Amino acid sequence: SDHTLQYPSSPEAVDWTLHFPGFAGLAKSPQFADVGCGFGGLMIALAPLFPNTLILGKHGFTRSLRMEIRVQVSQYVQDRITALRISSAEPQSFQNVSVVRANAMKFLPNYFAKQSLSALFFLFPDPHFKIRKHKARIISPTLLAEYAYVLRPGGIVYTITDVKDLHEWMAAHIKAFPLFEFIDEETLRKEGQGPIIDAVCTATEEGKKVERNGGEKWLACFRRITDEP
Ligand code: SAM
Repeated sequence: SDHTLQYPSSPEAVDWTLHFPGFAGLAKSPQFADVGCGFGGLMIALAPLFPNTLILGKHGFTRSLRMEIRVQVSQYVQDRITALRISSAEPQSFQNVSVVRANAMKFLPNYFAKQSLSALFFLFPDPHFKIRKHKARIISPTLLAEYAYVLRPGGIVYTITDVKDLHEWMAAHIKAFPLFEFIDEETLRKEGQGPIIDAVCTATEEGKKVERNGGEKWLACFRRITDEP
């Protein structure tokens, strides 16, 4: 469970140069966060497209039973990034991606300063089908306040799932939250977000699995609006 993990007391306490050694001395913090990154497919796809953007995957668990598996997955993602850094011809490649093992439902503001992120990804999150388990869903009114806090105005929340009920739940909650507005795919593509949308739909391991099984995917994106007068 969570007490076995160490958390930074605040974003200032995180030494990002350990995660992104290629950016040491530039005082940069992550701008993209993939919450529940799984095996890291999204980050690996986005890294070369946004070479100057730091991308952090959060890998977590909610139950101690799954912990060991999840520890291994986290290590797998870190090893995958290290291997890509070593093997790629360009020395700066994949210096901009990293992963932390953390419960994003509890400790997001410990990692990210107010309005520091420009994109938050929730891709194929665990559906928690039973009604009594809905409180474990990664989108909820309380957590939306945290997501709005760490996202800068104009920043985007990307959600995608193959579970229609979860899609409706996430979209309804985010739409109802005063600091987010729904933004359709066409508009995002016109704004140049096409490569991100494509990665969101196809680059993650879960997304690929859905595709192999011929399942449907529901995408919904939202813009963090400004709360300044
Ligand atoms: N996004 C990935 C993909 O599309 O392939 C993985 C999807 S997988 C179904 C859900 C992921 O969310 C798992 O990696 C799990 O460890 C992670 N997760 C669940 N609860 C979490 C939490 N509270 N904090 C961080 N990650 C969490």
